[in-house]
Amino acid sequence: MAGEANRHLRDLAAAPHYHVIAQNHEGELIYSDGFTWPRAHGFAADLISPPAGAPVYEPVRTVWIVQGEPLWCPLAHGDNIPADEQAAPGFLDQVVQQQPYWSA
Ligand SMILES: [Zn+2]
Repeated sequence: MAGEANRHLRDLAAAPHYHVIAQNHEGELIYSDGFTWPRAHGFAADLISPPAGAPVYEPVRTVWIVQGEPLWCPLAHGDNIPADEQAAPGFLDQVVQQQPYWSA
């Protein structure tokens, strides 16, 4: 049984995660990290077409959904890791070259 549990944990650790990256009308990039695919879709949908009564809404003009590396992520998931902070701008530069998920 313990072996089962360990294998399950490993699978989770190696599962892909997704970033939702959006560009607002000022050209600033905003991003959120660590989504499963369904949650990334839901988050993107809320950015593109906010639900009625959404408390804060920042209009966006382009949205990307990008799969992250399972074991390494330059966006660092909120950790203040200097190497990741240096890698993040390059990562975002690559993202904006890709086909967007949605564009106004
Ligand atoms: Zn990530």
